[in-house]
Amino acid sequence: MTKRARIVAGNWKMNMTYPQGRDLTLQIVNSLQPSETVVVLCPPFIHLQNTYTAITGISNLHLGGQNCHEAEKGAFTGEVSVDMLASCGCKFVILGHSERREYFGESDTLLAQKIDRVLEANLTPIFCCGEPLAIREENTQDAYVAEQIKNSLFHLSADQLKKIVIAYEPIWAIGTGKTASPEQAQEMHHYLRSLIAKQYSDELAQSIPILYGGSVKPANALELFSQPDVDGGLVGGASLKAEDFMSIINSSNKALDA
Ligand code: PEP
Repeated sequence: MTKRARIVAGNWKMNMTYPQGRDLTLQIVNSLQPSETVVVLCPPFIHLQNTYTAITGISNLHLGGQNCHEAEKGAFTGEVSVDMLASCGCKFVILGHSERREYFGESDTLLAQKIDRVLEANLTPIFCCGEPLAIREENTQDAYVAEQIKNSLFHLSADQLKKIVIAYEPIWAIGTGKTASPEQAQEMHHYLRSLIAKQYSDELAQSIPILYGGSVKPANALELFSQPDVDGGLVGGASLKAEDFMSIINSSNKALDA
């Protein structure tokens, strides 16, 4: 069976002033040990350059953007292009986070364009999907998430799709302190893999890292990451405290060793 990458990505969202971000990065750099877990820091844009300088030379620590524009460049005031991210050392870009979908009106179609742009630039999209609470309560989450995946990813060739990381983030669990149970996470991750297997191949489905996101914290990370189809986490709030983030990374390492 293909060995999938293990990834723990920290999404700082719109948090951390410049000095706060610099301190957090240094704390992570000083405590991180070499391991098979790929750690990705996704700070706000103003931190990219400094963070990149601080993490350069650490083989399992990478930088990611939280978003990018779908155009190559141009008159889009306030936006950031993927080439700009790449030039600051980013290897990853989060796309389709539920906050971007909800507050900035990002549609599946727009996200398909962003995915294309990021792949063209040879960066790795971390594509987020996940259902709101009302959908979970009526138990139609599979169909809801399947639409997001089909509409934004299934135009890709197999060679392109294999460069993607997926993050399943049930909206009702993001920033709420409510976590999906390990069983709920596993069920959805397994379902996502089955969708990819049906459209492409089982081999491809088995090779794509699928991260769980939604109130991952030190107390629940190991159990979540120990599920067979959960390949790590996209972490919001707990990535802002070095101690918590390091503990989550250690849980990923423990799940790998188990
Ligand atoms: C996120 O924003 O991607 C996220 C999962 O946030 P939190 O961990 O705070 O729920």
